[in-house]
Amino acid sequence: MVLNLKKKEPMRMCVACRQMNPKKSMLRVVRTGEREVSADPTGKMPGKGAYICKNAECLAKARKTGSLKRALDTEIPLAVYEDLQKYAT
Ligand SMILES: [Zn+2]
Repeated sequence: MVLNLKKKEPMRMCVACRQMNPKKSMLRVVRTGEREVSADPTGKMPGKGAYICKNAECLAKARKTGSLKRALDTEIPLAVYEDLQKYAT
């Protein structure tokens, strides 16, 4: 089998379903130095990041299981989930 190596896409793992997906198809959630958590649609905010699929299922799952909280090691305010929901399909 020949691998198609035209362009290496950066992959990230979803905190909810644990699947690797292209970074640009995912949502980044960032925890800044001040322990503020926010959605990072640009993917460029400084801080510790976690990635999640842009779909309602994974968001609901992350919320239920607390996987985002675990990934970022801090409480995720409800407003952040609501914000993420806006980007989810
Ligand atoms: Zn996912």
